[in-house]
Amino acid sequence: MTLHGANLKDLELKTGASAGDVLEKIRSFREKNGGMDKIADTRLYISGMFVLRRTDLLEAANITHIVSVLRGRVDKTLVEQYAKNGRHLHIEVDDDEDENLIEYFQTTNAFIDKAIQEGGSVLVHCAMGISRSATICAAYLIYKKQIPAETAIDILRNSRPIVCPNLAFRKQLDIYADNLDQAMRNLDDVPEYQRYLYRREVEMSRLAHKAPTINHYGEDETSGGSDMELKCRKCRRTLALSKSFVDHYAASPPVTSSSRDRILNMVGVNKNNCQHHFLDPVVWMKPELEKGEMEGKLECPKCSSKVGSYAWHGMKCNCGIWVTPAISLAKSKVDESRPRSTL
Ligand SMILES: [Zn+2]
Ligand SMILES: [Zn+2]
Repeated sequence: MTLHGANLKDLELKTGASAGDVLEKIRSFREKNGGMDKIADTRLYISGMFVLRRTDLLEAANITHIVSVLRGRVDKTLVEQYAKNGRHLHIEVDDDEDENLIEYFQTTNAFIDKAIQEGGSVLVHCAMGISRSATICAAYLIYKKQIPAETAIDILRNSRPIVCPNLAFRKQLDIYADNLDQAMRNLDDVPEYQRYLYRREVEMSRLAHKAPTINHYGEDETSGGSDMELKCRKCRRTLALSKSFVDHYAASPPVTSSSRDRILNMVGVNKNNCQHHFLDPVVWMKPELEKGEMEGKLECPKCSSKVGSYAWHGMKCNCGIWVTPAISLAKSKVDESRPRSTL
């Protein structure tokens, strides 16, 4: 394995350590464990790519199953004896922030679990054993021990201090840990996951100067679980439930709400000036949002009066905050009300 300058730069950014430190750490690990680390209290091992060539290490650790988490072909001769018995699983992803690893967690957890139950030991590897493989191992710990993502990563770091899932994978681990029961039943039913997919799609499309493809729309009929809704001021049709509301202050510093307001004030943001409700896509917007435009107007589906607008590249709220993507209903066109079912 060669460590290129770019890789080291990346590592520096990710870990906050200097390139020299990281290199030294990786070297000392390679000397100590051959670069493969056993995660405490499990029969799960984590490593980079080159360990596949160390058959002596794999045999010594009694590795029966291998999970490869990297894009492209894995050298067939190295995994042949595992692959022919269905004991090799290959997940093809890059270590990029737009990769979706969470959709594989169910598969990898089942694979690892079965292997361990059968008395085997599993090696999860990526290129360097830092981000992708660590994410898969963390997902397994979350699933097995029902622990938060942070705790899972701490456990991994006890065995392998260079572990550092990229920010998007961290986010995915949080979504998984916070919604474990629901995610195990059906990941697509987890609202936080749908929101993550939506934002990722909008961001990727935005970079390509294209309108996004929206796969999931929020409801506009009360079915409980919503404590507020927005109605068209003219015809009273329900236009959004609170489940679809976007808090456009949430991206501001994570501090108490009173000091957050003070900080927002200092940078010239005045909440009292807000003239928009920002939303995730709601089902009645579908015909408009599927036109493929970068921005447009939103009309009430019942009375056709103009109630708002959208802009995938974002818009500035009157309070001073830029919201991206922006789907907005004008406060002057809608009324807030409590749904009947919660009265
Ligand atoms: Zn605002
Ligand atoms: Zn209306």
